[in-house]
Amino acid sequence: MVSIQRAPDVRDKLRILAADAQYDLSCACTCATGDPRRRGLDDRWLYPVTLQSGGRGLMFKTLVSNACANDCKYCPLRAGHDATPRCSLAPEEIVRAFLPYWRSGQAIGIFLTSGVAGSPDAAMERMLATAERLRRREGFRGMLHIKIIPGASDAAIERALQLASGVSLNIETAGADHFARLSARKDYLKSVIAPLKRIAALTAKGARYARVKTGTQFVVGASDETDREVVRYMGALYERMGLHGIYFSAYQRGLGDPDLPGERSTVSNADLLNREHRLYQTDYLLRKYGFAAEEIGFDAAGNLPLDADPKEVWARRHPERFPVDVNRADKEELLRVPGLGPVAVKRILAARKGGGRIRRLEDAGVRAALARKAAGWIAC
Ligand code: SF4
Repeated sequence: MVSIQRAPDVRDKLRILAADAQYDLSCACTCATGDPRRRGLDDRWLYPVTLQSGGRGLMFKTLVSNACANDCKYCPLRAGHDATPRCSLAPEEIVRAFLPYWRSGQAIGIFLTSGVAGSPDAAMERMLATAERLRRREGFRGMLHIKIIPGASDAAIERALQLASGVSLNIETAGADHFARLSARKDYLKSVIAPLKRIAALTAKGARYARVKTGTQFVVGASDETDREVVRYMGALYERMGLHGIYFSAYQRGLGDPDLPGERSTVSNADLLNREHRLYQTDYLLRKYGFAAEEIGFDAAGNLPLDADPKEVWARRHPERFPVDVNRADKEELLRVPGLGPVAVKRILAARKGGGRIRRLEDAGVRAALARKAAGWIAC
């Protein structure tokens, strides 16, 4: 936590607000191949981001304000919780801080999020004014992500879509009952689901803002939701709302209200992080491997088994689908093999096109570790 004895200057405020922005992941601020919990670089305001192309870059990420009138029990910034110095940045202060990073090529874009100081639209206004200065006055054409504040008006949402390359709105948990345990002031249907639907309609294929990427985030383990409930919502969010990405943040015990189910839970922090990891793997199965939410396997308590990846769990429950013949199987069948991802499958299909019969996966360019994992599930 940053301690400031005098009135904070812009640099102090940036340090405080960029550090507090770490709790928000919904901009793909993770590493492509590593632990999704590496959120920041030291205590600076640049965060690694995975691009659609597979490359990486750094996003300048800050809260516009960490003052908040809301009462989200899992959030260290909630009203009445005095663990953090409160401050806000003016739009011009953010623009002046960000531009040198962009112009020097150190940052590829900017992520704007905020606590709710005043009304949802007042919080949106500070982000939108920053975005407008960047886009219209400074000619900034890079990545610009705006976090939509729960309860934002349709007009504020539409302005954000005009300016941003990506927007997100955190759903936080699976359903109104769990949500009520997290916040008494926010209304799940009105402040979260209705704006998510509005965003979905405006960014659907062929719609006016179809170019804008959309996402959401779950805080995992703050309530006592099961993975089965989370995965059901994930499936619906992808199918009905057309989201481009879903992010998960394991609840960080000790930061929230003592009444929160997550504070009373006996699940270890290590298992909570592992749960977050399994949900990310499941997300990949839904987005990249052609799995439906109903196909995901759970344990008797309705959670993802922590001791095996979800694709392997599915494979063990479907012996009739194996072994898969790597010389005949189609892309979808190959993608179901534990160990084989989109890159490996592409290499196998390319090797087959070349005319040769594949006798060992390594001969098709599949990495040895992945080939070993797939070995028990294939026939060559
Ligand atoms: S709205 Fe909730 S999650 Fe967002 S900053 Fe305020 S208390 Fe935290």
